[in-house]
Amino acid sequence: MSDYRITLLKGDGIGPEIVDQAVKVLDKTAEKFGFTVEYDEALLGGCAIDATGVPLPEETVAKCKASDSVLLGAVGGPKWDTLPGSNRPEAGLLGIRGALGLFANLRPSVIFGPLKSASPIKDEIIGDNMDILIVRELTGGIYFGERGRKEVDGKPAAWDTEMYTVPEIERIARVAFEMAMKRNKKLTSVDKANVLESSRLWRETVIRLSAEYPEVELNHLYVDNAAMQLVRNPKQFDVIVTSNIFGDILSDEASMIAGSIGMLASASLSGGKLGLYEPIHGSAPDIAGKGIANPLATILSVAMMLRYSLNRLEAAQAIEDAVAKVLKTHRTPDIYEEGFVKVGCEEMGDLVCAAL
Ligand code: NAD
Repeated sequence: MSDYRITLLKGDGIGPEIVDQAVKVLDKTAEKFGFTVEYDEALLGGCAIDATGVPLPEETVAKCKASDSVLLGAVGGPKWDTLPGSNRPEAGLLGIRGALGLFANLRPSVIFGPLKSASPIKDEIIGDNMDILIVRELTGGIYFGERGRKEVDGKPAAWDTEMYTVPEIERIARVAFEMAMKRNKKLTSVDKANVLESSRLWRETVIRLSAEYPEVELNHLYVDNAAMQLVRNPKQFDVIVTSNIFGDILSDEASMIAGSIGMLASASLSGGKLGLYEPIHGSAPDIAGKGIANPLATILSVAMMLRYSLNRLEAAQAIEDAVAKVLKTHRTPDIYEEGFVKVGCEEMGDLVCAAL
């Protein structure tokens, strides 16, 4: 029996190409660090709709639950864009997060030294090592709250609700405090407590919990100010914790500061060992099948899996170091600059394996 069982959800578009490279790198890492991994593939998104009629078959949920961790490529594409909302590939994505109880989304926004020029922000603002971790609540708040349509003064209107319970806030804040303890011990909680009652409860709860983490320096920002500070002085941040909707927006903003979308990994955690790891980008239908997709975000997602689910910290670091080394000389087209060697998806995977 292998040490770890990983479910692969390759998905659509470039999903299969990039996951294949990440698997190659994980196998090489396992060989080097003396552990074994076995894989089980399952369907999610458009490919699942084509094969079974639904974006998230029950078999996929069962396979994921039976594994130590899940690696996802990306889902979606123009072929399925006209389907009704509940049967689109993205519904499969929301469904699997809910089914696995993945309430915490971790998005690191890191600039690899050699890629500094890919950031739209000036060098002196970024400094030498921008490294922010956004911890976003993923299964509550306005995206899951009650909603509806009604008439107001005879005119059509629509409403959504933002609600958080204390246990929901506590569990996400706890993840963020724990992450801060492993990093630079600085946590920024982002809310809109000057206006929203749900934000006032959020802030009170985070402050109460902070008594358990006296070493962590905690501060609070309103979301509008946080959006501004991210581009004005990103170096001030270590870990940021926030609600589902604010985290959705701020994590996209932070990823643009880091530059290329093909470089950024993410993790969704359930509190237990099981996590779902995926690049933040989509299925890139415009380049699917051309062999030019950047597999590094998926490879870096494997590094996150090793760190947060499989507790193989050295192996995780080895992958990150190998990626940084390869970037000094080689680039896929999306991050290409003059003076570097241009390579495709598969070659990039081979180079990372060789650098390991
Ligand atoms: P996208 O991230 O797929 O692509 C945006 C742009 O970035 C494209 O030009 C694409 O070629 C490029 N790009 C993305 N990843 C790349 C990589 N690894 N290497 C090189 N270039 C890369 O976003 P989109 O075009 O808005 O969405 C395409 C499809 O993906 C849609 O169906 C959308 O719903 C879906 N999507 C899925 C996820 C997910 O599975 N988590 C996330 C976002 C979007």
